[in-house]
Amino acid sequence: MKEEILRHLCKSLGKDAAHSSVHDWRVALSLALRDRMVDHWFRSTRETYETRAKRVYYLSMEFLIGRLVEDMAANLGLVEEARAALTELGQDYDAVVLNEPDAALGNGGLGRLAACFMDLLASLGIPAYGYGIRYEHGLFKQDFVDGRQVETAETWLTQRNPWEFERPEVQFRIGFGGHVDHHDGKAYWHPWETVLATAYDTPVVGWQGKWGNTLRLWSARPASKFDLESFNRGDYLAAGRSEALARTISRVLYPDDTTEAGKELRLKQEYFFTAASIMDLLRRFLSDHDDIRELPQYVAIQLNDTHPAIAGPELVRLMSDEHNLPMDEAIELARRCLGYTNHTLLPEALERWHVGLLGRVLPRHLEIIRAIDEDQQARHPGSPRILEHDHVHMGELAFIMAHKVNGVSALHTELVKSTVFSDLHRIHPTRIVNQTNGITPRRWLHTCNAPLSNLITREIGDGWVADLEKLKALNQRTGDREFLDAFSAAKRQNKTELADWIAQTCGIAVDPDAMFDVQIKRIHEYKRQLMNILETVALWNEMRDAPDAEWTPRVKIFGGKAAPGYHVAKQIIHLINDVARVINNDPVTGDLLKVVFPANYNVTMAERLIPAADLSEQISTAGKEASGTGNMKFALNGALTIGTLDGANVEIREHVGSENFFLFGLTAREVVERRHVHGYARAAIEASPRLSRVLGQIADGQFSPEDSSRYHGLVGGLYDHDYFLVTCDFDSYFDTQRRADQVYRNGSNWAAMALRNTASMGWFSSDRTIRGYARDIWQVDAVDRAGLEMTA
Ligand SMILES: *Cc1c(COP(=O)(O)O)cnc(C)c1O
Repeated sequence: MKEEILRHLCKSLGKDAAHSSVHDWRVALSLALRDRMVDHWFRSTRETYETRAKRVYYLSMEFLIGRLVEDMAANLGLVEEARAALTELGQDYDAVVLNEPDAALGNGGLGRLAACFMDLLASLGIPAYGYGIRYEHGLFKQDFVDGRQVETAETWLTQRNPWEFERPEVQFRIGFGGHVDHHDGKAYWHPWETVLATAYDTPVVGWQGKWGNTLRLWSARPASKFDLESFNRGDYLAAGRSEALARTISRVLYPDDTTEAGKELRLKQEYFFTAASIMDLLRRFLSDHDDIRELPQYVAIQLNDTHPAIAGPELVRLMSDEHNLPMDEAIELARRCLGYTNHTLLPEALERWHVGLLGRVLPRHLEIIRAIDEDQQARHPGSPRILEHDHVHMGELAFIMAHKVNGVSALHTELVKSTVFSDLHRIHPTRIVNQTNGITPRRWLHTCNAPLSNLITREIGDGWVADLEKLKALNQRTGDREFLDAFSAAKRQNKTELADWIAQTCGIAVDPDAMFDVQIKRIHEYKRQLMNILETVALWNEMRDAPDAEWTPRVKIFGGKAAPGYHVAKQIIHLINDVARVINNDPVTGDLLKVVFPANYNVTMAERLIPAADLSEQISTAGKEASGTGNMKFALNGALTIGTLDGANVEIREHVGSENFFLFGLTAREVVERRHVHGYARAAIEASPRLSRVLGQIADGQFSPEDSSRYHGLVGGLYDHDYFLVTCDFDSYFDTQRRADQVYRNGSNWAAMALRNTASMGWFSSDRTIRGYARDIWQVDAVDRAGLEMTA
């Protein structure tokens, strides 16, 4: 390993060891690791070709990958070797690992799910490709200026990306606009504008290096040659125009996963990567099959949300316009290949395109969508329309073009059946299935939490890393004093490290013995960070009223980004920072209460915070969080959850036991009923002196003395239209927090409850999730390739 690192330093980077920076060492290490992956990767590809195995194609606008060095080293079993090599070379391994920028090609849970799936598809030996966009700028970088969120462009690609292989030979022409000619019963699309999609491949090797798949990300290039004539005339801008236009398509990730944003460019991005992926998989299929009618036997395409839903019409277009199949047969064949994962019930997040826009950008697809709509009507009269009120409804399109539609938690799937797709569900009663989300145990315990991971391995061996259900054995240790002490000591160590980091990055001293209460996720009204900060103020009030009472010291930790155009979410961030400033400087409460909000939450920060958490905040309005995966990461790392009956919280609570979960709040059904009660928010506020007091303080400017009316709108909104029922759940939340305080004061009971959480989370491995997709949706075998030798 040492030699390979030195070789890359010298031959690939052109650097001399004596004059190399930590960046150079990191890139050299990454290249050395990548070399080791390549053999597994080639072998897997060869085997897939030879056995003509069915392939899974996972289409996702987002892959929230984070850093790869440690993950790849861990999967290859090379962590110790890499550490030793760098140490011998006089380098600090941890600093080298930390040098890697996060690949933040996603907004949140949806993108992170895709990244976890890539790990498991490889670990289970399922031949698979992830397809997405190679954004030049991933999710924006967040800073706080006077408590306000400020966004700047994130630039992970300004450095060399050592993981990827550029594939200039893999190129597809992607058309936009233009017109369609019909003659002799055939359609001919003449696009007005064309860009090239070029491929960049990142090998993804699974646990113990047994199998390697490909993450193929598309980058946009101009299709026309550089305009030398304009350039020579001195018109440099005109010369570069087509290039600039083309590159725009893969330039930025849309900074919002819940609103319909960016219209035309967004639609072009979706079509760009979907069409390139479909053309690529068809080319691969046709390279060793003759009959396109066999496609469904060899190809399973999964749509991660509706963003790639144009895959249905694109497949139909290629099969009917280029391979001459009749339209109805093309529709049926496409359907047998496609599965659609629904991620949200929020009406504003269900994609819709105005027919004017869609027809302008994709004229042939609009015709095909009409044909699909008519085909559905002919077979099922009265079925919901894809085209309605001058809009193309991508949810309906995805549903109708998929042979399976899945929700991402048991509760969410039931709500998909009874709300957004109730009519389609009645027509197709077996199409909707559930696949509760999962997380990869490698990243979310094995690598991110060494103290706990080592303790578990000492106790039950290391089989749990590949088979997380093995953690169940830890249930027998919940009465074992000595083990509980060791379990608490591991948490304590993580908390000490986090406290040091908080001191360095935020300049706030926190006590590692205080309860670390953590809410990290996108900032959104339905996730209710607002309720958390209101509860913080209420607790602060009561501590000040009786500073000598028996309090459980708390550190409230927040992390998360707001979409740049989401005004209320940005106000919530501002409020949290304003409240933090006041509370952290209050000598009366001192160490009893601190509020910390480190800027720029990302995967790396999650890996730092989650192992150190005591309490996990999963407090969304019931019925709004489709699944959540943050909730799983925390429970696996031995945090107790305070949460509502929402998303996967329901199943987590069933697995860890209701006595080991702090439940509060209205149920999804009660939420719907409550919204029908006239003036429910005002009534709830008036019935709660505690909440009224907090809202009065905030509205009066107690936390924003320089601008006393700053939060009039936010507080007024709670009185008038508290759609997410912060006010109705507040008292129940506050009381449950005090119950958590009490339990925390009895440390050993807390530790036993936390251990039950860790021990019971095996089911939430994405191993179980991927096996479910493989069995119920893709009809592929999860080949246990345990027999395969590791060939290094
Ligand atoms: C897991 C994860 C999420 C999803 O968190 P939720 O609490 O489920 O919303 C979002 N962002 C990052 C960086 C994550 O690691």
